[in-house]
Amino acid sequence: MVRMDEAIRTRCCIAGGGPAGMILALLLARMGVDVVVLEKHADFLRDFRGDTVHPSTLELMHELHILDAFLKLPHQEIRELSGQIGNETVPIADFTHLPTHCQFVALMPQWDFLDFIKEQASRYSGFHLITQAEVIDLIEENGSIAGVRAKTQSGPLEVRAPLTIGADGRHSIVRQRVGLTVIDLGAPMDVLWMRISRRPTDREQTFGHIVAGKMLVLLNRENYWQCAFVIPKGKGEEVRQKGLESFREQIVSLEPFLRDRITELRDWKQVNLLTVAVDRLEQWSRPGLLCIGDAAHAMSPIGGVGINLAIQDAVATANLLGDKLLRQNSFGSELEVVQRRRDFPTRATQRVQLIVQNKVIKHVLGSSKPLRVGWPLKLLRNFPVLRRIPARVVGVGFRPEHVRTPDVHPLG
Ligand SMILES: Cc1cc2nc3c(=O)[nH]c(=O)nc-3n(C[C@H](O)[C@H](O)[C@H](O)COP(=O)(O)OP(=O)(O)OC[C@H]3O[C@@H](n4cnc5c(N)ncnc54)[C@H](O)[C@@H]3O)c2cc1C
Repeated sequence: MVRMDEAIRTRCCIAGGGPAGMILALLLARMGVDVVVLEKHADFLRDFRGDTVHPSTLELMHELHILDAFLKLPHQEIRELSGQIGNETVPIADFTHLPTHCQFVALMPQWDFLDFIKEQASRYSGFHLITQAEVIDLIEENGSIAGVRAKTQSGPLEVRAPLTIGADGRHSIVRQRVGLTVIDLGAPMDVLWMRISRRPTDREQTFGHIVAGKMLVLLNRENYWQCAFVIPKGKGEEVRQKGLESFREQIVSLEPFLRDRITELRDWKQVNLLTVAVDRLEQWSRPGLLCIGDAAHAMSPIGGVGINLAIQDAVATANLLGDKLLRQNSFGSELEVVQRRRDFPTRATQRVQLIVQNKVIKHVLGSSKPLRVGWPLKLLRNFPVLRRIPARVVGVGFRPEHVRTPDVHPLG
């Protein structure tokens, strides 16, 4: 990185320090590419944004030789997933047969995960993270993106690079500024997220509970339950207007064991609304610019695969472009190679999510009659071996990536 007053020159400028941006930065710095990440927040400690670290991501950590260190951080491990339909409990996914080193989904606050990745990346001299730096515009020269303009605490900043990466999430300013076309695939639901304390005598499992018109997912986070209450699209305000008492009652009607602590929810500030979006870009790149992660494709929360897909994009980008970044000073249509590689897993995952959204969730939220366990769930209940299929789709996904880039410049 070369700093000249308010301008920086680097090989790769990444807008956004989420899972996609940070993993890509780690991989590039690890192979000797100079990289600057601009993150608009001061740190990674912010609202709940998903805590799942999937077996395929853990496998990548194994390939990077950082898995043991990672697993020393506080986390929980989900080996099986089950759902409750009415009064019947149905096992859905069994991760214990996956062909990966870790046969579980690890649950860890995203800020701990990102702090860990930052720590690992900081071992390489080419890694530079600038926080409180909000990308507000792109620099365009001769029909190619040549970097970004950002707002920082100390004034405006320009970062110039042969390659700019838009990893700035589902509301990406990068994709908006460059005018990439977004295909909106729609979602019938939004999600209200909240924490409710967990007692040692509570059940262990992470599980979902579905009854006519309602859905609640509880993730075991040791001393609290991370709860996701699914509501019909756009009804967040209506739920609020009915009042907190009515909301608490809805939760307790699904999970009566929470009654003794539901009053912990004292304020709507404790309840976060996730506006569910499922979309993808028609084209992920323009000369000099590539979007990855949620900026290229926002995922539905079904299966909790957004972080995983974002990380897989980052690995594919490093594998396909890392070498070129060491020597090439401009990038044109070769950037399309990343979309060609990642388009199938993105489409296939979104296809599965849309089927679940439209065939299951829409039906549940619109239903007033008692629900029955459908034949796919009956199959999973009766034939344990079939539970390996959802585990594979969720835990590993389609076309998993592997680290193919070298580790050339550790600082020691
Ligand atoms: C409430 C909620 C719950 C979720 N639960 C799960 C889950 O359980 N499992 C799962 O896999 N996924 C979950 N997701 C989705 C998951 O968080 C995303 O798919 C994943 O984080 C995408 O990673 P990313 O790096 O592409 O984008 P993001 O994680 O969105 O990261 C983008 C980063 O860019 C920064 N940024 C944005 N704009 C700018 C700018 N202009 N300049 C500089 N920086 C900028 C942001 O601050 C952020 O750090 C959830 C999302 C939400 C909102």
